[in-house]
Amino acid sequence: MLKRLLAICFWLTISISLPARGPVALQNIRYYSYPEYTRVVLDLSASIKIAEKVIKGSDSGRLFFDLKNCRFAANYPFEKKNAIKIQAGNLQQIRIGKGNAQTIRVVFDFDKIGKYNRFYLTSPFRIVFDIYSQTEFVSHARQAREQEVPALDGSPSIARQLGLGVHRIVIDPGHGGKDPGTVNRYLDVQEKDVTLDIGKRLNAILNEHKEFEIILTRCRDDYVPLEERAAIANSNQGDIFVSIHTNSAPRLTARGVESYYLNVTADPWAMQVAAQENAMSSKSMAEMRTILDQILQNSKISESRILSQSIQASMIANLKRKYDAVEDLGVKKAPFYVLLGAQMPSALIEVSFLSNRDEARRLTSPSYRQAVAAGLYLGIINFIQSLGKL
Ligand SMILES: [Zn+2]
Repeated sequence: MLKRLLAICFWLTISISLPARGPVALQNIRYYSYPEYTRVVLDLSASIKIAEKVIKGSDSGRLFFDLKNCRFAANYPFEKKNAIKIQAGNLQQIRIGKGNAQTIRVVFDFDKIGKYNRFYLTSPFRIVFDIYSQTEFVSHARQAREQEVPALDGSPSIARQLGLGVHRIVIDPGHGGKDPGTVNRYLDVQEKDVTLDIGKRLNAILNEHKEFEIILTRCRDDYVPLEERAAIANSNQGDIFVSIHTNSAPRLTARGVESYYLNVTADPWAMQVAAQENAMSSKSMAEMRTILDQILQNSKISESRILSQSIQASMIANLKRKYDAVEDLGVKKAPFYVLLGAQMPSALIEVSFLSNRDEARRLTSPSYRQAVAAGLYLGIINFIQSLGKL
């Protein structure tokens, strides 16, 4: 039954990603609003490229764009057909109007327009706006600390300069709900179950430190869209974001642990892993390059690299204590959607290969999952200690 359901989900995913012949359908406009940050997501049946225009006033502002060759989907929420009131941060409302029979105009009304990012996601196709309440990406509290604390070692790392005390740690168990992730059919193991269990174990270990607050992006078998995961971390003002995954390769002997941070890459394997996790084609991955250049300026790349290195080293050392044939595949960079827009040091860990028979068997055992969680924990603690806090 489950397999049949999965097959239907897979078929649905494929059908949704097929290019539309007729007009594109606007299915929904969703938003996630927080004091410093609002993420607006337009769900569409197929890809549309937009060119937004911005009109700035002294105490108001407007951003608008046209969805051409587009109509409302039959299931588009009726209450969102004219306007969506937001009134959080500087974004007041979203107005929706029919330009002509084939065009939908979307208008964002602001108190004042600050910094924003716009990017596209695929499978299914979405247009995403990240709108920041302030022109700066750091909060007032952090700005104050930045002024008080001098650079420790002359490195450009903001976290080090701040002596940033890590308080909130966001754990992201990969996949969930209708998205099983990688599946090992012989052992009947799904990535989403393994990552959730490891995430819960990591949560339990970290919770022993009273000074930490742990946030899980999901604690059940729920579907959480990729773009929502970094939004959860941002809105909770997480200090560290760790996404947990299991790897898969066509070469069934491939095994080991690898850690990733968000960046562009020329490494074909890293691209393949990212494409798999992003559930998109290599072609769409290439298109992602343009949005990445924009977003990377605001990402904590050097801190994320250090976090990835710390976790990778601890994972390998901890697993090698109990297990043989633990391969260190190293720290790599790649454009993962799940890390996109995260405003804190963030890493994605491929803890082992579910496509490898030996590692898949290990991943089914509680003791191996516990050893993986302990490795992640030690890596996080080492990173925090490297920041001179704790
Ligand atoms: Zn995954």
